[in-house]
Amino acid sequence: MARAYNFSPGPAMLPEAVLRQAQADMLEWGGAGASIVEMSHRGPEFLQVARQAEADLRELLAIPDDYAVLFPAGGATTQQALIALNFADPGQRVDYVVSGHWGRTALKQLVSVDVNVAASGEAGGFRGIPAREEWRLSDDAAYVHITANETIHGVEFRPAWGHVPPETGKVPLFADFSSSIASEPIDVSKYGLIYAGAQKNLGPVGISVVIVRRDLLERAGQPRADIFDYRSQLKGESMLNTPPTWNWYVLGLTVRWMLDEGGTAEFDRRSDEKARLLYAAIDGSGGFYRNDVDASVRSRMNVPFFLVDQALDAAFLDGAREAGLIGLKGHRVLGGMRASLYNPMPVAGVQALADYMREFQKRHG
Ligand SMILES: *Cc1c(COP(=O)(O)O)cnc(C)c1O
Repeated sequence: MARAYNFSPGPAMLPEAVLRQAQADMLEWGGAGASIVEMSHRGPEFLQVARQAEADLRELLAIPDDYAVLFPAGGATTQQALIALNFADPGQRVDYVVSGHWGRTALKQLVSVDVNVAASGEAGGFRGIPAREEWRLSDDAAYVHITANETIHGVEFRPAWGHVPPETGKVPLFADFSSSIASEPIDVSKYGLIYAGAQKNLGPVGISVVIVRRDLLERAGQPRADIFDYRSQLKGESMLNTPPTWNWYVLGLTVRWMLDEGGTAEFDRRSDEKARLLYAAIDGSGGFYRNDVDASVRSRMNVPFFLVDQALDAAFLDGAREAGLIGLKGHRVLGGMRASLYNPMPVAGVQALADYMREFQKRHG
């Protein structure tokens, strides 16, 4: 089978150019006599790879100098636990806005802090994001946590919702950007901390990115092991222990690819076009396909949708596979379908999906 258009939510598709480069470097990297995955992380070759990845990520996201960048091993869920340890004193108030599954998951990682759910979309089935005026924020919270894009429920903070990013006054805003990082230009200085697991928009699974305002790192936080201390990680260049070198290297290639393609302004444009194509196919189907999310917060990255009759789901997925469209089965929490449209997904892939959906409807509608 040739490479299909892969709509998997994560681990997700990577740019073909990145995979080809990784393939070429697999046996031997840059005249070093060994693959990058076989070298010491403390050697000059890998240090060059790691530092270039940071420099490129800083350029891609226009990260100001007063922000540190960490590349911790592990996923976004790990960071959800570590941010509370690193930035909240024992028993201190932390505010969470829950707009879907991953916001709820973030709550589960909290121990020894005083959790305030400042707003939640759960009563409405996570089809919207509560208006900013309804949030009940605390004056003394260590931070306010949001999920910039909810990967399963398909809910994203979009400009149509109101002021994005939301104002949180003196309390720093922490955001889980796992499924939408680098899909549009953002003003990093509006955030205290941004984190993302790499496997959706940035590269392979096993490594995360944490972008944090340096002065916040001075906070004491909770007693924690050195390996969980972001300050130590920063001093050790995220190499207190052996980092996932291969993942870091492929992440670097992916960031480089995004810069070469035109950066976040270009991915913003493409994301608009991809989302427009897919939502038009859904909304124009006369109810054969359905997306239930409030239009002002519909995600451009993850589009959950349902067929009018779920007895057709299996035939839809089989036909999609035959048409070279894979990874469309919805998350078990919601069922139905989900198309993930991360940066590596070309507009042509979404056009092919929209065409297939219309053709499937003609046969079964
Ligand atoms: C995938 C995802 C996570 C969990 O990531 P892991 O790397 O599996 O821990 C958390 N938040 C969001 C928004 C996600 O999309």
